[in-house]
Amino acid sequence: MISVGLQPIAADNANKMTGQKMTHVIIKDGHFDKLINESSFQIRYYSAMTDRDQTVNKKKNKVKYTCSQCGSHVWGKPQLHITCSDCKNPFAEDEERES
Ligand SMILES: [Zn+2]
Repeated sequence: MISVGLQPIAADNANKMTGQKMTHVIIKDGHFDKLINESSFQIRYYSAMTDRDQTVNKKKNKVKYTCSQCGSHVWGKPQLHITCSDCKNPFAEDEERES
């Protein structure tokens, strides 16, 4: 990774190159950095920490809904007003959240 201009780092410690969860940073003026700066295409990227934060927020925002008659489940954002097409009953919001 270093030879292509990407520095491996542990997700929980940027000063370590080994760990259970890894990511990388772009080495300034490395091959990857130069390729991106010299090319006409763009790559959208964001840090692993941002990615993790978004994942956590997404999990908190998904709610399980259950049909009171047939027991079918659907997942969606909180406070939806949805009805089971088979039973014509409204889905009830469960306490359970995506884990
Ligand atoms: Zn139903």
